[in-house]
Amino acid sequence: MPIDTLEKPTALPRTRSYSTTNNTRPVALATWEFGRIACDQSIRLLLKGQSILDAVESGITAVEDDPNVNSVGLGGLPNAAGVVELDAALMLGPEHRAGSVAALTDIAHPISVARRILETLPHVMLVGESARRFALQQGFPTCNLLTPAAKSSYEKWLSTERQNPPIGPSNHDTITLLVRDDHQNLAAGCSTSGLAWKTPGRVGDSPIIGAGIYVDNEVGAAGATGNGDEIVKVALSYRVVIMMEKGATAQEACVEAIHYLTQKCGDHLTGGAAVIAIRSDGSIGNAATSSGFTRSRRWLYAVNLSGRTEVREGRYVD
Ligand code: ASP
Repeated sequence: MPIDTLEKPTALPRTRSYSTTNNTRPVALATWEFGRIACDQSIRLLLKGQSILDAVESGITAVEDDPNVNSVGLGGLPNAAGVVELDAALMLGPEHRAGSVAALTDIAHPISVARRILETLPHVMLVGESARRFALQQGFPTCNLLTPAAKSSYEKWLSTERQNPPIGPSNHDTITLLVRDDHQNLAAGCSTSGLAWKTPGRVGDSPIIGAGIYVDNEVGAAGATGNGDEIVKVALSYRVVIMMEKGATAQEACVEAIHYLTQKCGDHLTGGAAVIAIRSDGSIGNAATSSGFTRSRRWLYAVNLSGRTEVREGRYVD
């Protein structure tokens, strides 16, 4: 058949019919209980008139700075060689720009390095020693991220197990933050030390655009947390945004994507996974695998819809 008689693929409709409400208030949505400070900080900045990138970066650095959060930034648990390796990503809806870093060491704010990549390079992602060198060239100071508490957990692991751990309830988590400003623009960011005692150089879903975070400014934003070795295989955040593009609500899209992840990767999905989303109209959704969570480790997210941040228990999906 001559090529010009082949039927042209029909593009997905990309109208603005995704909006069902006209909420113009800023919205912030973040993973886990520590997402509370990220939401508070990002909304505070938006209300002061700062940019959506400032809001996401600042919300995430607040968590990176907390030494008591043992899966993000300072105080993050190290890899099997005792080194804290950090992953982070940032995506800006307007202009569809992104920056990310993986296996970054000795730098307190990987999210800020991701932002510098987004703003200054024609690339999206830098990794390992080259990412560190870029950060130093850009004037980021070095710091020792291994706190005494993280070091002593590592030494305990060295003296007992000393092998690649299964992903469990207490050895991973990510701050993932989605923000919509009052101009209905969207941005997303995430930051993590990944899986404790991981093989050096292991990179999870978080810094991979489409897996850890994804934004389409006309449709919505999504971001993940949990077993990154599985999340990455289904491009979880991208899937949520595509479902919203096809007309699903934010909640329906999250449920469908987690259901798909469980179907495809259920056999390996130790530790569980969760996803959050904001649609362009400001409505929100969340879902987590029902496996991987227990009474002592519930799926929690933080949300600020009206000026006050609340921490809520999310929805579990089989
Ligand atoms: N997704 C992160 C990783 O696999 C960890 C987490 O969010 O729990 O690196």
